[in-house]
Amino acid sequence: MKVMKFGGTSVGSVESLRNLRDIVNAEARPVLVVVSAMGGFTNQLLAMCEQAQQRDISCLDTLEAARARHHEAIDGVVVESMRDQVHATIDRFIDESLKPYYLALATNPRMPVDEIERVCDAIVAHGEILSSAIVTGMFEDGVPHLSLNCMRTVPDGHGRILDWEETGRLVKTEYASLADGVHVAQGFISRDTKSGDVTNLGRGGSDYTAAILASLLDAESLEIWTDVDGFMTADPRTHPDATVIPQMTYAQAQEMCDAGAKVIYPPTIAPVAIKHIPVWVKNTFNPAAPGTVIVD
Ligand code: ASP
Ligand code: MG
Repeated sequence: MKVMKFGGTSVGSVESLRNLRDIVNAEARPVLVVVSAMGGFTNQLLAMCEQAQQRDISCLDTLEAARARHHEAIDGVVVESMRDQVHATIDRFIDESLKPYYLALATNPRMPVDEIERVCDAIVAHGEILSSAIVTGMFEDGVPHLSLNCMRTVPDGHGRILDWEETGRLVKTEYASLADGVHVAQGFISRDTKSGDVTNLGRGGSDYTAAILASLLDAESLEIWTDVDGFMTADPRTHPDATVIPQMTYAQAQEMCDAGAKVIYPPTIAPVAIKHIPVWVKNTFNPAAPGTVIVD
């Protein structure tokens, strides 16, 4: 089985979602699709957290614009038999979860700092929850999964790291029967092993989710679908003669990521490298381009 991860721009518009559909429909089943939030929405969710804490209620207008954007995507790509259900899912998460969270932030000036962090972590998880509902609804054979059921983190200094043991155990349960179909999971989001609070793997962490799942499920390959043709010899904005690197080793890819190449999230490489799983970086907006393959 392949794991295919689609980033924010790849799920960000009706046009890109249609490309995603064609790309996934060309694959054998089963296939596991991991998605980011719609492009820009994670930043918006976090900016609205700041606004709400300043008691600036205009954050609710931004939320309505985001609602409209998700509904437009549903009308453009979700199969007709699923459309009402997906519209209702989006509304339910916005009205019964996001809005109450923002109102709680805006109306509780004395909320303790750790409680604010907990609420904002819960809020920011909604980006992937909403986009994955849309992507699942695009396929007649879509099978929804919930990364909150199986991705686990533990505290590490001021941040958190993946709890490999618990995640490994829970992933086996969540994906026990990988029957034919397009299995869809959220990137980025997780829970704390001990408290069960919603957490995440850090900004850009959806690539890492896909690599963790590919590694634990012994995928045949991992594909990272993004908005560039692959790793480049230099930054194309400053070096117009930069070209795509057709093949590189895990070590070379790791080095480029650590040096700031924004193609994939740096922790993504290790889990697939240990299992010798090839990683393809491909462009959703130019699927015919060969991309970059990362191997031993
Ligand atoms: N949506 C999250 C972010 O914007 C995770 C990701 O896209 O990889 O950081
Ligand atoms: Mg990314």
